[in-house]
Amino acid sequence: MNQMGIGMTSQRTRERLIQRLMDQGITHFEVLEAIRSMPRHLFVDEALAHRSYEDTALPIGYGQTLSQPYMVARMSELALARGRPGKVLELGSGSGYQTAILASLVGEICAVERIKPLVERARKQLRSLKIRNVRLRHGDGLEGWSSEAPFDVILGAAAPEQVPAGLLEQLAPGGRLILPVGGRRQTLMMVTATPDGYVEEAVEAVNFVPMISGVER
Ligand code: SAH
Repeated sequence: MNQMGIGMTSQRTRERLIQRLMDQGITHFEVLEAIRSMPRHLFVDEALAHRSYEDTALPIGYGQTLSQPYMVARMSELALARGRPGKVLELGSGSGYQTAILASLVGEICAVERIKPLVERARKQLRSLKIRNVRLRHGDGLEGWSSEAPFDVILGAAAPEQVPAGLLEQLAPGGRLILPVGGRRQTLMMVTATPDGYVEEAVEAVNFVPMISGVER
C-alpha cells in the first residue's frame, strides 16, 4: 500500500468514524469497539481503500455495495438489544464486512450470499482475519437455511419487497428478524417472534440494494 493509503487508514481516521457513529446515536460499547478494531479497508478494492473509514457504502463489484458503517452499527445494536445472540443467520454477506463485525459479537453465524465470487472472496477474507465462527454458503437467502434453524437473529443487508414469511418460521422463540423491506422506499423492520405471534416494528427509513431470488455463478 502507498503512503497515502497508510495515512488514510490510520487510527485517527478510524477514531473519526467512531465519533461520527456516536454522534448519530450509536451507543453500544462492544459494537463501537468491533467497528474500531476491524480493518474495513481490507474488504474493498485497494483503489477505494482511502475512503474505507468514511461513513458511506462502497462498491464491491457485481452491482453490490459494502454496507455503510452506520447501518452495520445500527443493525448490530438491534441484534444485541436483548443480550448476546447464540446463533445468527445473515442474508447477503457481500464483502463479509458486516459478518466480520458480527462474528465478535455473537455465538455463531450462518451466512448466505447469492453471488458466488463474493462468497469466495468473503470466505478468504474471513479466514485471513482468523474468524472461525462463520459458515458461509452460496445460496438464496430468501430460503433461509432450514437445516441450521432456528436462529436467535436473522439479519440482512438487502431489501425484499415484503417480510418473507418463510424466514419468520426459522426464528427461535423470542428471536428477531432485522431486515430492510420495500421497493423504492424502504424501512428497516424488526420482527420479533413472541408467544402471541410476530410483532413488527419499523425502525427507520433506509436505502439498501434489493434482495433478489435465485443465485448467480
Ligand atoms: N453487509 C454486506 C452487504 C452487501 S450488499 C457488506 O457489507 O458487504 C447486499 C448483498 O446481498 C449483496 O452481496 C447481494 O448479492 C446479496 N443478496 C441479494 N439478494 C440475496 C439473496 N436472495 N440471497 C443472498 N444474498 C442476496
